[in-house]
Amino acid sequence: MSDDKRPIDPWGSTLPADYETLMTEFGIEQMTNELVSAFPLTHRLLRRKVEFGHRDLWRIVESIKKNEAYAVMSGIKPTGDFHLGTMMTAEEIIFYQSLSDKSVAHYCIADLEALADNGIPLEESHEIAVGNVADLLALGLDARRAYVYKQSEEKVVQRLAFVFSTSVTFSTLEAIYGPKHIKYYFSALIQVGDIMLPQTEEHGGPKPVLVPVGIDQDPHIRLSRDIAKKFRLVPPSAVFHKLTRSLLGEEKMSKRNPMSMMTLSDNPKLAEKKIWSALTGGRGTVEEQRRLGGEPEKCVVFELMTNHFIEEDEELRKVYLECRTGARLCGDCKSQLADIVSKFLMKHQQKKEGLTDLARSMLEGRR
Ligand code: SF4
Repeated sequence: MSDDKRPIDPWGSTLPADYETLMTEFGIEQMTNELVSAFPLTHRLLRRKVEFGHRDLWRIVESIKKNEAYAVMSGIKPTGDFHLGTMMTAEEIIFYQSLSDKSVAHYCIADLEALADNGIPLEESHEIAVGNVADLLALGLDARRAYVYKQSEEKVVQRLAFVFSTSVTFSTLEAIYGPKHIKYYFSALIQVGDIMLPQTEEHGGPKPVLVPVGIDQDPHIRLSRDIAKKFRLVPPSAVFHKLTRSLLGEEKMSKRNPMSMMTLSDNPKLAEKKIWSALTGGRGTVEEQRRLGGEPEKCVVFELMTNHFIEEDEELRKVYLECRTGARLCGDCKSQLADIVSKFLMKHQQKKEGLTDLARSMLEGRR
């Protein structure tokens, strides 16, 4: 393996140093106020520009306006419980699905990847996947317009990956992803298959497809768009969100570091404990914080409020101003957030329990 240092790596855990530079470098379009207000409904991730960039998102706006079919697609590697990063993508799928009754949400359970990358046997990842789908349903996915499948059982995706491989050279893959083990290139082609699945005859033929992703997944989007053009499919649209930082702020939230992530299955007491240890933008002493104010831009607690847990813009603005002016201390924020999160988790876990049978039938009904 080389020591190639790409600014973004779909399999890595580092955070981008600067989103603006990446957007310019890779030709990602900025999320504008005009685009945000073109949707019939709003969402905090859009309004607050947590979704900061896109490729061809106007195509989805057009589909909604013309009442035409489109798909929203994403997936999860079933290696563990939903954490806040995977929850963000789930919320995006649910939101874009909700904007039209002509939309279908496609959700891929990447169990082959969990086997190849993490050595998790298919029977084990199946049980994890049931929990993941129950999370998705509890967050609000409309099961009547959803296609949830496992990579290991979806032969069409495997066929597509093979067909697409005939149009891509090794040097193209190397130019997009850098020098990698062949299994990564193979997995990239499978992901292109997942992204194109909604456009197959089995799913109603070519149509716009929106993929909500972190910017680290853009290489898959670029590859998919290139391939789509070669096969006369609609190049998939993408909306990019900022990556969720780990609670200690040092890298992106991932299952690799369980103590630095919050999952939707965490016991509320454990979640509160994690919040109290999270990184803040606070000063060294109370006196300093009162005098200088805190730095919400650096603060993971403020980021959790912005991205996930405070719906009201006015309330968030109040937190920001009170922090900046030193009227608020980090303990105030942590105690407020711990309270919100523990109520959210209790409610979510109760809902999820009631949806586990439906999740299982959605996954097993295709066998
Ligand atoms: Fe973050 Fe709140 Fe501390 Fe400000 S006061 S740095 S927002 S935890």
